[in-house]
Amino acid sequence: MVNVPAGVMREFQEVGRDLYQLALVTSHGGNLSVREQPGMWITGTGTMLGRLAERHISRVFPDGRSEGPQPSSDTVLHHTIYAVTGANAVVHAHPRHAIALSFETDKFVPGDFEGQLHLTDVPVVAAGPRQSEQIAALLESRLVVLLRGHGAYARGKTLWEALHWLTALEESAQIEAIRRSRRQS
Ligand SMILES: [Zn+2]
Repeated sequence: MVNVPAGVMREFQEVGRDLYQLALVTSHGGNLSVREQPGMWITGTGTMLGRLAERHISRVFPDGRSEGPQPSSDTVLHHTIYAVTGANAVVHAHPRHAIALSFETDKFVPGDFEGQLHLTDVPVVAAGPRQSEQIAALLESRLVVLLRGHGAYARGKTLWEALHWLTALEESAQIEAIRRSRRQS
């Protein structure tokens, strides 16, 4: 087990619990990381974000070495995001309305005020061998990016900020879904 600083651990626990309680991940889905020079703290593979304890957090170094549990399978992507953006925290979750929209577009443009104000637009990346580079490159200029049919990656100065963009995306996507269902009825 690694010694995670108390403030960082509390942020992992509170943001993880919120993601689960807001139904933005399943019981064992998603992952979170916080930059820590050199490297980062990241949730272990298959951990329950709603019930995080210190034993679920890995310390990963830039050479790929890690301490603690087996780090998330998304570790390379988190590394790439930190390498190319100024982010200090990354959240990956599975917001259902946003995922539903991702199947049919390359870019989601929120129609609601909050979404337009904060997100402007949300690019959709297709799954493939270059998805990590594409997501990281887009997160240089965007706050959140969708991976088609899978989920969203949000960056922030803190996990709280990344949670904000993730929840803003899902709110906008749900509003869009309601508008579309009204149009059809
Ligand atoms: Zn996922």
